[in-house]
Amino acid sequence: MSFVTIRAHSWLNSYKITMAQKRKPKLAVWKFASCDGCQLTILDCEDELLTLADKVDISVFLEASRTVKKGPYDISLAEGSITTQHDAERIKKIRKVSKLLIGLGACASAGGIQSLRNFTDVKDFISAVYPSPEYIETLDTSTPFSRHVHVDYELQGCPINKHQLLDVISAFLHGRKPNTTSYSVCIECKRRGNVCVMVAHGIPCMGPVTHAGCSALCPTYNRGCYGCYGPKETPNTASLSSWFKRLGVNEADLVRYFRSYYGNSEHFYKESKIHTKKRD
Ligand code: SF4
Ligand code: SF4
Repeated sequence: MSFVTIRAHSWLNSYKITMAQKRKPKLAVWKFASCDGCQLTILDCEDELLTLADKVDISVFLEASRTVKKGPYDISLAEGSITTQHDAERIKKIRKVSKLLIGLGACASAGGIQSLRNFTDVKDFISAVYPSPEYIETLDTSTPFSRHVHVDYELQGCPINKHQLLDVISAFLHGRKPNTTSYSVCIECKRRGNVCVMVAHGIPCMGPVTHAGCSALCPTYNRGCYGCYGPKETPNTASLSSWFKRLGVNEADLVRYFRSYYGNSEHFYKESKIHTKKRD
């Protein structure tokens, strides 16, 4: 499974349909199991929101307005993961009424932090969190939209970066591929002129395997990256693990490094499995 999915053909076809129509493209924002952080990132586009509202018809965005216009929609932005049977059905309905479906954030692209349940018995979590667990109906797993429907594009991050989001919407409006890069946080670190926290100070840092997007926020403040943007394209997780071990990281902590925000993503999942076996 690829976690930065560009299906340019369907993307450009959707755009042609949009350009052929005279009305503004209809945009809808949907929420599934999540903390709302990615939707808040849309609201965080304060200076750009009016321009955006001028270019698209914001038809559904319950965090910002009670107005709900009927579909179909030209572009659907959806945050969250699938954790209930109801939501598994709902994403199918949204897919049917959306020309382009874009998943926002770690939850949408990998199941998010809530996919920690995938590694254990979800009932243990339910009884630890809720005083009356008998009222909770949930699936055993938290899964990305792509496990249920075709997704045209996934934007990584927990939460996503607003500049990358605006670029994705702009790409749709102008019929081009998004410019979201799939290189590592280390590249952003170098661009900021940071001293490497791992090389210079021996601090474990997930930057070499993590997708760019945050402008190397954590290393800029002298702490290691913990991977909240998920795996970069073709990450060498085995090599990073061997460097972490040289820095004194034990097997249990290695599992934790790979099994957090993107623990359910293909590369981080496989690496965490290797160290789970060694830990046990
Ligand atoms: S501090 Fe981390 S992100 Fe920055 S260059 Fe070093 S390993 Fe890469
Ligand atoms: S954890 Fe890594 S990806 Fe997340 S903000 Fe910090 S440096 Fe960026």
